[in-house]
Amino acid sequence: MKTIGILGGMSWESTRTYYRLINEGVRERLGGLNSARILLDSVNFADVEPLLRSGRWDELGDILCSHALGLERAGADFLLLATNTMHKLAPRIEERLSIPLLHIADAAAGAVTAMGLDTVGLLGTRPTMDEDFFTARLARHGLTAMVPDCEDSRCAVHRIIFDELCQGRILDASRRAYEEVIDGLVGRGAQAVILGCTEIALLVSSGPVPLIDTTAVHARAAVALALDGIKEHS
Ligand code: GLU
Repeated sequence: MKTIGILGGMSWESTRTYYRLINEGVRERLGGLNSARILLDSVNFADVEPLLRSGRWDELGDILCSHALGLERAGADFLLLATNTMHKLAPRIEERLSIPLLHIADAAAGAVTAMGLDTVGLLGTRPTMDEDFFTARLARHGLTAMVPDCEDSRCAVHRIIFDELCQGRILDASRRAYEEVIDGLVGRGAQAVILGCTEIALLVSSGPVPLIDTTAVHARAAVALALDGIKEHS
């Protein structure tokens, strides 16, 4: 079994979901007492978030590269960056690493194309929705992605992530706000909606179209890669 390096803590509310899902996936495949080989480096999000907020991507890149290299040195066979937003820095991290980075947008795209769909809505933080690092990666898989067309909606989606979900606050009013935004995307033709922030599934889990939880599909892809070539239990 390969050792999975998880660069997490962004936020730990979703990193713990990764830990559980990956271990459940390994148990499902191998049975008994089997569990995943995981190296977890969990950053203090309070150190990292201000850099994100002020757009200091170079500094963020240096920090994340140094954590990723630490996981590689410690023996990780591949890296999971357990956040969508920080995948803006994926090319820079990949350049420095010798081990592969399992890209979260590839995992999301795989789930969408497996359903035979090609047009998706995308929810996430402002960088994930406003910039093209995520949607361009989806386009490589032949997917068209749309984000909420109204600035207020994008602000609300972003604010709820940082002020609530990343702090473990799950509020009904925010669930309703997300449901409205999802309805808007579906009304514009989205056949599925990618929950492109690793905490969103803590708030919404079902909708009028399939919701692609990036935490779940990323964790599933990690299990598949970690167990590649290993015989399943019968
Ligand atoms: N976990 C979130 C994501 O998947 C947001 C936190 C972050 O900025 O890393 O994008």
